[in-house]
Amino acid sequence: NAVVHWFKRDLRLHDNRALHLAYQTARENQNPLIALYIQSPQDLAAHITSPAQVDLSLRTLRQLQRDLGELDIPLYMETQETRKAIPRRVVELCQQWGAKHLYANIEYEVDELRREAKLVRLCAENDIHFAPSHDTCVVTPGLLASQQGRQYAVFTWWFRSWLAFLKENPDYLEVSEEPGSNPGDARGQFANLFNCAVPEAPRNKQLSDEEKSRFEKLYPTGEHEALQRLEKFLEEKGRGYEAGRNIVAKEQTSVLSPYFASGALSARTAVATAKRVNKNHLDRYDQGYMTWISEVAWRDFYKHVLVHWPFMGMNKCFKPEHTDIEWEYDEEQFQAWCDGKTGFPLVDAAMRQMRHMAWMHNRTRMVVSSFLSKDLLLDWRRGEQYFMANLIDGDFASNHGGWGFGSSTGVDPQPYFRIFNPIRQSERFDPDGQYIRRWVPELRSVQGNAIHDPYDRGAAATAEKHGYPRPIVQHAASRDRALERFKRALKK
Ligand code: FAD
Repeated sequence: NAVVHWFKRDLRLHDNRALHLAYQTARENQNPLIALYIQSPQDLAAHITSPAQVDLSLRTLRQLQRDLGELDIPLYMETQETRKAIPRRVVELCQQWGAKHLYANIEYEVDELRREAKLVRLCAENDIHFAPSHDTCVVTPGLLASQQGRQYAVFTWWFRSWLAFLKENPDYLEVSEEPGSNPGDARGQFANLFNCAVPEAPRNKQLSDEEKSRFEKLYPTGEHEALQRLEKFLEEKGRGYEAGRNIVAKEQTSVLSPYFASGALSARTAVATAKRVNKNHLDRYDQGYMTWISEVAWRDFYKHVLVHWPFMGMNKCFKPEHTDIEWEYDEEQFQAWCDGKTGFPLVDAAMRQMRHMAWMHNRTRMVVSSFLSKDLLLDWRRGEQYFMANLIDGDFASNHGGWGFGSSTGVDPQPYFRIFNPIRQSERFDPDGQYIRRWVPELRSVQGNAIHDPYDRGAAATAEKHGYPRPIVQHAASRDRALERFKRALKK
């Protein structure tokens, strides 16, 4: 009579709600605990999961298998081609193992909720007790509402209520205990599950050897690394976060997003640890820690939004009138944006940073999303998809939310008439051009302020000589065109 924990994007032992509950049930009944993971290539394709993220998850599984093995808990892994097959397969495996209890953490995207709903039905029909847990958000979606009982659409108000909720309900920041050694005799009963091979990445999601080792160096595997990074970041950079987080060359942010995305780190642990170093305050002491906590809260916010307005996960804009914006579909310009060859140094540096690191600084994510959707007036959904296909931290809700912000079509967006000037952004957030020189080698020898706009500031010969492209649009004219299109759509 085994107990099963089904791992998804919660690849950690530390502070994992469903795993903790599964372990408790196994311990109470002296049953063996089995861990399960199913990879679906169709799912990875549908979510446009990047090869870098697939690789990180598979590496994390290897680590997890070792850590679980030390506790005598087997991790059974397999590949199911179609995602539709997964709920039935989970039930079949439970039956095969004689398991009457199944635990998993809930994922809030639309397809995942449908899958979970199907699993609830199938488990009920087959006499399996399925306990889905809320784990990925610090505050469970649905618990925060305005005085009129509505979901907040503005972050500032939502964040206030998020903080108030956590002050009133400190147990939401309580970290779940890790499992101990298997209460049942899994090594005897399920010996064959212990040497299970970690699935291969599907063919269209594979990395070259060079990419694999590059990403592994940038993002060493697993939850131990994530917890160490968290502590080190808070200790060394937390207090300077508020002042330095927007300076793109400064490396003042945590770069923990890959670990949140694979589930190697829980947001609850992140906030609880930041609160601890903030002398146990959630509302004062150091603005650096508080700002960082508010950034982690953005991750919760976008998941709450998605749960409340699920149509946002179906390529729809938050406000219906934004559907009427007439976008351009210029392939060459899109390609120039993807390749970091727009002639706008900060935009190009950022796009090349993403190509190299599968990660981009938050400030430049805002700049390049605004550039794509306003300066080029290209459909923001193309940018959203390109990000998912390339980011190691690709997360549907945060990415969708970020694109909604940048393109002024989302919930709590930047107002459409506030259009980032990419050269001004460059001067403000990369004042000495260090970031640009790092990522755009053609401009390395450009001196001083010309780095932000070489063709207009006396460095045309150097830029040309090294093959750096001229700007593909003029910002002032593009800005007028974007304003006109937005106004036209909103007036209809
Ligand atoms: P830190 O500054 O150290 O922040 C800590 C954590 O807070 C992050 O790891 C992240 O989990 C969360 N966070 C910070 N800012 C945001 C935000 N604006 N929205 C949601 N969560 C936030 N984040 C992703 O995790 N996945 C994405 O696919 C993603 N796509 C984005 C697309 C666009 C167009 C924009 C503007 C933002 C996007 N973000 C996304 C949010 C943000 O850029 C990244 O979370 C952040 O840059 C990650 O770096 P970090 O871990 O050093 O962040």
